[in-house]
Amino acid sequence: MDQFHITLEDGSSCPVQVVRSPRRRTVQLVIRKDGAVTARTPKRINNTWLIAWAQERAPWITRKRSELLTRFPTSPTPLFEPGAPHLHLGKIYQLDPQLAARKRILIQGDRLVIHAHTPNRPEALAAQLDAWRADYAQRLFSARLARCFPPFAQMGFTRPTLRLRLLKRSWGNMRSDGRMTLNRDLIRAPLTCLDYVIVHELCHMAHMNHSPAYRALLTQMRPNWRADKALLERTLA
Ligand SMILES: [Zn+2]
Repeated sequence: MDQFHITLEDGSSCPVQVVRSPRRRTVQLVIRKDGAVTARTPKRINNTWLIAWAQERAPWITRKRSELLTRFPTSPTPLFEPGAPHLHLGKIYQLDPQLAARKRILIQGDRLVIHAHTPNRPEALAAQLDAWRADYAQRLFSARLARCFPPFAQMGFTRPTLRLRLLKRSWGNMRSDGRMTLNRDLIRAPLTCLDYVIVHELCHMAHMNHSPAYRALLTQMRPNWRADKALLERTLA
């Protein structure tokens, strides 16, 4: 047995590569930077026991993977000089750093105005914009979740708790314990794409997979989801 599969909490199947070593005494799970999972084992090991042992560690794998993925920001490094383009809710704004006593960020026409203490320091502007985005996303995503939720409340579901992360390879996820995670980078996408991702994750409360039954529910809740998905992929490619 060189490889086996375990089932993660979201219902997805996770391959585990087996690497045997004659010198090894214990079993160890290792997760690579790209999320691939390896089980390092002694030469002789009972396959059934090994699969059950790894399956028990599914929550740990999910947690470790998301920790790894959130460590790396998704988008290419944007520029922080005057006129540099920045996406916000699907629209491109030109950066306009200005010297000011009070730090704040404003949208004026097609400009993203940053009142900064040091408007010519890219790192300072980057940090200020990042904090503004985090705050903006927290308020907006919570409001959109509240807005998308009522049809699911009618189905008897409890509103999930929400947390935001910079995820490397997904727009969000929904756990069976009622915790929804959304990729904070969605703040750069059009609002309709954000709503689509929220509804996509809400539908996972009923089906922890992408089965035909899941898709039927998604289509019922959001008939134009395919257009939203295509727009999202085009905008934040
Ligand atoms: Zn999904």
